[in-house]
Amino acid sequence: MPRVLLVAATTGYQTSAFADAARHLGLDLVLATDRCHVLEDPWGDRAIPVRFDDPYASRDVLIAAGPFYAIVAVADRTTLVASLAAEALGVQYNSPASVEACHDKYLSRQRFEAAGLPVPKFFRVLASANPLDAAGRMPFPCVLKPLGLSASRGVIRANNAVEFEEAFVRIRALLAGVDIAMLREEQNRYIQVESFIEGREFALEGLVTAGELQVIAIFDKPDPLDGPFFEETIYVTPSRASPETQRALIGAARSAVGALGLTHGPIHAELRMQGRGAWVLEVAARPIGGLCARTLQFDGSVSLEELILRHALGEDVSRVRLSDRASGVMMIPIPSGGGVYQGVEGVEQASAIPDVEDVIITAKEGQKILPLPEGASYLGFIFARAGTPVRVEQALREAHACLRFDMATVLPVMRR
Ligand code: ADP
Repeated sequence: MPRVLLVAATTGYQTSAFADAARHLGLDLVLATDRCHVLEDPWGDRAIPVRFDDPYASRDVLIAAGPFYAIVAVADRTTLVASLAAEALGVQYNSPASVEACHDKYLSRQRFEAAGLPVPKFFRVLASANPLDAAGRMPFPCVLKPLGLSASRGVIRANNAVEFEEAFVRIRALLAGVDIAMLREEQNRYIQVESFIEGREFALEGLVTAGELQVIAIFDKPDPLDGPFFEETIYVTPSRASPETQRALIGAARSAVGALGLTHGPIHAELRMQGRGAWVLEVAARPIGGLCARTLQFDGSVSLEELILRHALGEDVSRVRLSDRASGVMMIPIPSGGGVYQGVEGVEQASAIPDVEDVIITAKEGQKILPLPEGASYLGFIFARAGTPVRVEQALREAHACLRFDMATVLPVMRR
């Protein structure tokens, strides 16, 4: 049984999906995670404890636990440890320099610029700097963002100097919070400022083999993402964009993969079309996050996780095709202001909408749900599959309209 290493930052749905796929393929999947101290023995007795804030020590732990035939990483923070271990163990994977560039929005932009890709005007400043000095260096509208967070956390649009200062101070406070400070990542000392790229947004899922990108799916994001915050809602594939637009998106993603130096494994890219040109917002060296991967089903009921494992093992998966039906997911938007999740009504009606495959509420009763830009949690997901992308989008919206969330207001703590 080939031993395959899965480096994961959570022991949630995606990890279990990889475990299922590995069982199906007859692989010995070994989990390495930093969650061992949180969850007692998350996977029987074999999970390897690593620390993503100490990549070199973690690499040595993984070398000692080897050999591995293949390495797969899920979530952004895991890729550096995975790449260092892969390099030391002689396993095919992306280089440490390439995954570092993906995980740092400033480095990514520098790589894209050096490779001649279109990039917005951009610079980074220390979060401790005076926001007004930085505001004077960028035309409006612009976007401020942390360098190393994901899921649009801390990404804020500013249309003038007042909004710029507010956004800057808000991101500074976010970066100073314990959950981020404890990551001890150098890039979290900075805030990046970018000119605003107008246009429709898309996501692209792919697999890279020896530096060559195989596109698995292009997702339309039909809801406008104009700010001030950038909450992801609906993803639908196949894309309804023209063949010309799709070619532009694929071309840009291909160039970005080359610019970053990614060579092996899954990627998830976010792009915008401005006129006829495709602009890469970012490329992550990992698959689409968590439950959303369920939208991608391949002929023969092959899951994305199975495809990624087979690819990691060196199998030629270039002929594997997505199933014909259109599919999509809605990341259920957080009602304005967030609050403490108390419950939801209408899940049965939502699930009964034709073409809706599943409605999964991931929020737990009593859980405090913070909206963007500070928050990082979802209420849940709605999945749909149908004959056309138009119908998928409709079904997602109809199902969402059935849901009524009960959120209690978080009262400010009174200090005496
Ligand atoms: P994350 O890794 O947190 O998702 P991104 O840099 O991809 O951060 O930004 C999140 C979202 O914010 C993007 O999907 C896009 O909608 C919006 N965004 C980020 N940068 C820009 C920009 N320069 N112009 C326009 N929109 C942007």
